[in-house]
Amino acid sequence: MNIGLLLLLGAVPAGVLIVYLLVRPGAAAVGALHLTRCPRCEQKIRYAANRAGRSGICPQCKYPLTLPSAPPPLEPRTGRKSIGLRRK
Ligand SMILES: [Zn+2]
Repeated sequence: MNIGLLLLLGAVPAGVLIVYLLVRPGAAAVGALHLTRCPRCEQKIRYAANRAGRSGICPQCKYPLTLPSAPPPLEPRTGRKSIGLRRK
């Protein structure tokens, strides 16, 4: 039995696991940001996920608003035509 080889084989997945834990995409739980839009001036507002459901103020027009806990996905405005809307 080659102990060194066993250690090596064990170290590789352990190292991969550590790297995964360090760089995994979901690791941003603390700094997760939600995005909403000001109902008055339509300014995009980013806020920390842990502030969802609380009140906030639009940084642009100072409009008081409630930060939604489950913000609806914003419509992409990057040249994509929306389906189902007729253009006049
Ligand atoms: Zn505003």
